[in-house]
Amino acid sequence: MIEFDNVSKQYSRDAYALRDIFLSIPDGELVFLAGPSGAGKSTLLKMIAGIEKPSHGRVIVNGQDISKLKSGSLPYLRRKLGLILQDQKLLNDRSVLSNVMLPLIVTGAASSEAEARARVALEKVGLIDKASALPLSLSGGEQQRVAIARAIVNRPKIILADEPTAFLDRDNANKVLSALKAFQSAGVTCLISSHDEQFLDQANRVIYLSHGQVTDTWNAAVAA
Ligand code: ADP
Ligand code: ADP
Repeated sequence: MIEFDNVSKQYSRDAYALRDIFLSIPDGELVFLAGPSGAGKSTLLKMIAGIEKPSHGRVIVNGQDISKLKSGSLPYLRRKLGLILQDQKLLNDRSVLSNVMLPLIVTGAASSEAEARARVALEKVGLIDKASALPLSLSGGEQQRVAIARAIVNRPKIILADEPTAFLDRDNANKVLSALKAFQSAGVTCLISSHDEQFLDQANRVIYLSHGQVTDTWNAAVAA
């Protein structure tokens, strides 16, 4: 469960990136965060990972108040999350396989174990045949699926994806979304931001943001 309890975020004194946000996202849902550029979608995702702290209110993930975590505990939180954020590029001087192994290597996994798990992750996103390729030789959609494999190699219960289909054509965007939906089917909560409305009907829940405020929510369970 992810909860926002009256959360506001100001990067500067008179500008709100998010304002008075109340949200409750149950486990296992596929949730879209919709809204134009600048609406506050990235900020909201970063707060769940403790990358940004609320100026006011509480962000609670699996019962834990993220803003109360000591900075030393944040790496442990982030390991339980699959992050696909815009400023996390693939390393272009390493193979696809090595990129996907990295989150395991940095936490001290043996390289044989890391490689085996990275291969499983690449199979899940349909890219095992690209394991030894360099990221730049892949299409944009394939690179985004490598980023998904890297994000899920730690087997997180929550995936946060910031505009994972941006800059992709419809076919590649569909492949990226299918990969994410496969993890949701396996019980992972997926929170995906998008300014593109074409996929919204596939979600369990859509949260519309504008100027830092929730303007509307749509819930499949209620709509049905
Ligand atoms: P979105 O992801 O919907 O495009 P963001 O969360 O990136 O929206 O941005 C929301 C607002 O906060 C925007 O007005 C943006 O300019 C501002 N903002 C985002 N990050 C920062 C930052 N690090 N410092 C100052 N302002 C920021
Ligand atoms: P898609 O059809 O998925 O959009 P592309 O048409 O970009 O993908 O690429 C088709 C295939 O060619 C992909 O499997 C990709 O790995 C490979 N490829 C794309 N660009 C390059 C490149 N610059 N060098 C080598 N292989 C490439």
